[in-house]
Amino acid sequence: MVKPALRSRSLRRVKRKVPGGRVSMQYKERKVGKPACGKCGDALLGMAHGTLSRVRKHTLSGRRPSRPYGGMLCSACARDAHVAKARASS
Ligand SMILES: [Zn+2]
Repeated sequence: MVKPALRSRSLRRVKRKVPGGRVSMQYKERKVGKPACGKCGDALLGMAHGTLSRVRKHTLSGRRPSRPYGGMLCSACARDAHVAKARASS
């Protein structure tokens, strides 16, 4: 039986053939996609990415751009949203 920390399903299980010919189970961190813009789907720049525990190690200002819609929309879509909001209010 593996150690208790490896029994969690938060790590993915990879079968690897070791030099002796035996197939061994290895425990790897799951791959996490890059954060994407909510409107156009492009990858967001300036964002911390990875597993939640790794992202939480950054300061809040290091996780996402500190502007309106930062971390939600890319800069081009955020600019469009600002213009649309200003036009709607006037
Ligand atoms: Zn966008």
